[in-house]
Amino acid sequence: MNAKLPLRCLAFCGLWVGLTAAAQTIDLRLSVKIILNPTTGTRPGGITPTMFTNAVAAANQWMAGYWRGYRYKLIEVADIGGPAQGGTNGPSKWFGRDPRNTDDGTWQSFQSDVQGSSLYLLRTNALNYYVSTAMHWNTGGAAPFPWEAPAWIAAWGIVNDGPFWVVHECGHFYGLVHTHGGCGCPSTAGCTLLNGYWVGDDGLSDTLKEAAGDSCFTNINQLTLANFNKWFTNCTSAEQTLAMNTFSNVMSYHDPPNKDLLVNRLTEQQADLFATYANSDRAHTISGRTRFVSLSGNNANSGLNSAAPKRTVLNAVNASAAGGGDIVLVRPGNYNEQITINKTVTLRATRSGWATIGKP
Ligand SMILES: [Zn+2]
Repeated sequence: MNAKLPLRCLAFCGLWVGLTAAAQTIDLRLSVKIILNPTTGTRPGGITPTMFTNAVAAANQWMAGYWRGYRYKLIEVADIGGPAQGGTNGPSKWFGRDPRNTDDGTWQSFQSDVQGSSLYLLRTNALNYYVSTAMHWNTGGAAPFPWEAPAWIAAWGIVNDGPFWVVHECGHFYGLVHTHGGCGCPSTAGCTLLNGYWVGDDGLSDTLKEAAGDSCFTNINQLTLANFNKWFTNCTSAEQTLAMNTFSNVMSYHDPPNKDLLVNRLTEQQADLFATYANSDRAHTISGRTRFVSLSGNNANSGLNSAAPKRTVLNAVNASAAGGGDIVLVRPGNYNEQITINKTVTLRATRSGWATIGKP
């Protein structure tokens, strides 16, 4: 949030005659399907297409704050089901229902239905998001993790016109787990093991442990006492930042009434995971790739995995798509290179600090 940034968004289009402007951001394609009432054909209460336009616009303001150049792109909001599409035998069999129970097989049969009939408009080039219940301020949902695909491929949610559900639920689709690790708070009962972490932690070192036993922390002093053995006010500035980054994390469950306003933080390691999955398991939904560059990298790497970056900016630029649309993400440091860039590509620095190129 407070890092200096010389390379936030340098697109080199326009510097050379003949190159046309390409996006300086990467689209994450989102397809929303609204399940209609089986007899009247009306949408669930309060649900409108405009709601999704507004939610995605608000979500993209949060996404811009993470400095990685990813933006959700709503490619459609489609009505499905209703009396003309099979009534209660078509998609509308799910109208008004929450399909998330995995124990009795409801979630599995929802996924099977979605894949089994073209009426569900399952898109192969987007994140498919289904809505079957009324608008609610306390949003929620379920989205498949990359390592669950292709068994579970559609997301379902309770939505409103705010940003939280978009960034949170779609965050799962791009590989992010809760800061508290498990499915819900306070209990992890009935939860699928999430990436090996489900008792109060997401496995990332730039978020704190979030729970004691089966109970998630409900205020920030519990968090700092457990992690630093201090009240929040007695923590160092760095400790307070870690605590805030965890407590107000978009992948947390804290402060539901204010989550659309305040619960929006995403750490660098979360952003790294997100990009790595967007580059790989979820590449069918994106308009471009991110290539990581680090002073500790190696040009033999593809640069598509945050844990295996390239070493030089030039090598990452050369590996980027010829037609444009990719981002080269330069980690902090000085890259003593003199380079010529003759394709459309976007260079970005991270919130972690300055990246400079060409200083001897
Ligand atoms: Zn979640």
